[in-house]
Amino acid sequence: MIHAYLNYPNPHLCVHGDPQCGQVGMHNKPNQRHVRLGLPTLSSGLETLIGLQFGSRSEINDVWIEADLDDVEFERACVALGVRRLAQRYGPFDGLAIETHCEGPSG
Ligand SMILES: [Zn+2]
Repeated sequence: MIHAYLNYPNPHLCVHGDPQCGQVGMHNKPNQRHVRLGLPTLSSGLETLIGLQFGSRSEINDVWIEADLDDVEFERACVALGVRRLAQRYGPFDGLAIETHCEGPSG
């Protein structure tokens, strides 16, 4: 499972493989947005992610994405896919690189 933090309009995408990482849950605020990508509901989760509105207001300037798909490469690929689709509407996301902050417990 990975936790990915996506920020706008100063684009930033950071992946945490360690669920115990101290940064996971940081930036949380009232009405913090979370999107979960899980196997039984992967397509609807991606739809939710791709459909998000972004703007400079604090309610809509970021999202935590929790991907739990049994394979970290697949999880990162799904996050990257969602961000590429968002980039079609939000130019700052175009070409955004995934930063890795920490790896999962199994390496
Ligand atoms: Zn981390």
